[in-house]
Amino acid sequence: MSDCIFCKIAAGEIPAKKIYEDDDVVAFHDIRPVAPVHFLVIPKVHIPSMAELQPEHDALIGKMMTTAARIARELYCTDGFRSIVNTGKVGRQEVYHLHVHVVGGPEVLPAMLSR
Ligand code: AMP
Ligand code: ZN
Repeated sequence: MSDCIFCKIAAGEIPAKKIYEDDDVVAFHDIRPVAPVHFLVIPKVHIPSMAELQPEHDALIGKMMTTAARIARELYCTDGFRSIVNTGKVGRQEVYHLHVHVVGGPEVLPAMLSR
């Protein structure tokens, strides 16, 4: 998708604070963090949202989740974290390229609800 900002991040065409990257997924810090730890995990392939997922994506979704968990551990989210997938209009999705938010630290819930 030529006009998708997360495709451009995945392709290295616009800068992002990347934490991890392999052939399938990219993780990077959210540009507007709502907590001390706030990063996103995306697939490199363009999937608009969770609503478009199909069985062929099973392995990719598994990799996104294990990547999110590993990075959360590495960033010392020892007391837990929120993992959020905003989907569509009702889910207030802003960027239509599938992504998992990982949000850790104090005051996480009030910050997310006020957005
Ligand atoms: P949502 O689609 O509602 O889950 O929100 C999209 C998230 O992407 C927001 O938290 C934004 O701050 C974040 N975001 C948008 N553009 C960028 C970017 N260029 N780099 C990092 N994070 C971004
Ligand atoms: Zn995309």
